[in-house]
Amino acid sequence: MYQCVNCGAQVEELYRRYSLNVLKLLKCETCGSFADKYIEYDPVIILVDLMLLEKQAYRHLLYNCNLKAWWKLVIILWLVESFRHLSFCDSRNRYTQDWKLFEFNIDSHCNFYLILLKTAFALASFVLVVFFLTKAKWHLRQSDSKRFSMVELVKVLVIGGSAKLLGLLDITWGHIFTTSHYFLLLGYTHLCLFTAYSVIVNNHKLESLLILGMGVLTYNYIPNFISAAFEVLGLV
Ligand SMILES: [Zn+2]
Repeated sequence: MYQCVNCGAQVEELYRRYSLNVLKLLKCETCGSFADKYIEYDPVIILVDLMLLEKQAYRHLLYNCNLKAWWKLVIILWLVESFRHLSFCDSRNRYTQDWKLFEFNIDSHCNFYLILLKTAFALASFVLVVFFLTKAKWHLRQSDSKRFSMVELVKVLVIGGSAKLLGLLDITWGHIFTTSHYFLLLGYTHLCLFTAYSVIVNNHKLESLLILGMGVLTYNYIPNFISAAFEVLGLV
């Protein structure tokens, strides 16, 4: 089943093809609009709408596209985040020092493999916290619950979190991760996450903000426990 990008209702077909070059978009029976206008759009326009935080574009990508390569984005995000943490290790930049108040402690262990492990743990913790808090909300208020699978949630968080890849410009200009510019990038990433997450749940905005906020806090702080555990075990 597909979804109408305007109202989120389920539809069986998005278009009907009459010949190789002729197809007709079908309308949604619930809202009366074309179920998915993006079928005829150029991918660049879809990308622009994603960047402009249009929910319709997120619905198109999540429900009406056969998005198979999302797991590659997971790996890219993992590596980029690890690279960012590694770049923090050596930096004595003033903003980096301020930023470390909000991040897990990586000062003492600039080992790349350890940072990879901690970043993977942080990303997994973020997804699990958001998943279980959303499930807890289902139990509290079942009437407006919209069910989704773990895979769908990971897809949503990965697509929303991909805004962080803009930080790759750091490789060209060499100062994005360690200056105040990164706060802007982080704020935009959280907006993308919020928009993408809102597409698959029926939460109130405040509920979504709380759940994602708890996930972000977990992401930033729980890897400290890995450091503490490694120190206790004498592995670092
Ligand atoms: Zn509709």
